[in-house]
Amino acid sequence: MQRKRSRDLGILVGSVELAPVPDAAGVLCPYAEAYPGVPAEDWEPYRALYPELFVEDGWRLPCLSYLIRSSEVTILVDTGVGPPGLWDWTAEEEGLLPASLAALGVGVDEVDVVFLTHLHIDHIGWNTDLDGVPFFPRARYVVHRDALAFALRHPDRTHIRRCAVPLVDRFEQVTSEVELAPGVVTFEAPGHYPGHMGLRIISAGQEASLVADVVPHAALLDRPEWVFAFDEDSTANAPTRAALVEDLRGRDGLVICGHFPGSGIGRVHEREGRLVWAEARW
Ligand SMILES: [Zn+2]
Repeated sequence: MQRKRSRDLGILVGSVELAPVPDAAGVLCPYAEAYPGVPAEDWEPYRALYPELFVEDGWRLPCLSYLIRSSEVTILVDTGVGPPGLWDWTAEEEGLLPASLAALGVGVDEVDVVFLTHLHIDHIGWNTDLDGVPFFPRARYVVHRDALAFALRHPDRTHIRRCAVPLVDRFEQVTSEVELAPGVVTFEAPGHYPGHMGLRIISAGQEASLVADVVPHAALLDRPEWVFAFDEDSTANAPTRAALVEDLRGRDGLVICGHFPGSGIGRVHEREGRLVWAEARW
């Protein structure tokens, strides 16, 4: 029996539906801490382009998940920061994901696949409830084999203990390119995290690339060589990010990252010698 849809989601990529699912926003840390090799003045052009990502010298980090629906398969990409108060950061707002899903007319029991790009604290918070019970009761939880292996080497980290360890027997471990639904395919992009994955939607001549934390700040599209201190392996991520940005230049599609401004869904274009990201409107 086909599931009854309550409403359509936000945007269409071919026949695949896509919608942002906000969970949290706040100041992560000073830019100088996240990018110690980048002089403060080098950020100024990007402060002008992306004011939403700056609070004085601090990096204001939106944290959005995404809902994708293709041929009746409903996929949630990443699960945000989770219930309020778990992460030691300066949150403006937290814990929004359940309400954001409800606003889209999607219940937690309607999510078929939870796809995790990687297992950092701001991407797996709603994997489980506060007691470690899976928050999405029917979902397949899909994660890269290397990401899970890395996470489980740190079982005492709070978010790993609560949001990954209880799901060890439930995770579906993958590598390489996996079709999660018609037109929705994972790709490997390791470095920020072992086994980090992105996602590409290709449908009816349209496409979108979800880059996640390979490019965690829109400025890095223009300055992919900048070193991000929170990459688990910056040396490994450098060629991954450079190749991905080069690939995006050659594609006429949406570029998606839950840490970018607004919906995090936009397009890249050249402007005055810079590669600039601008939010798509629909
Ligand atoms: Zn992140």
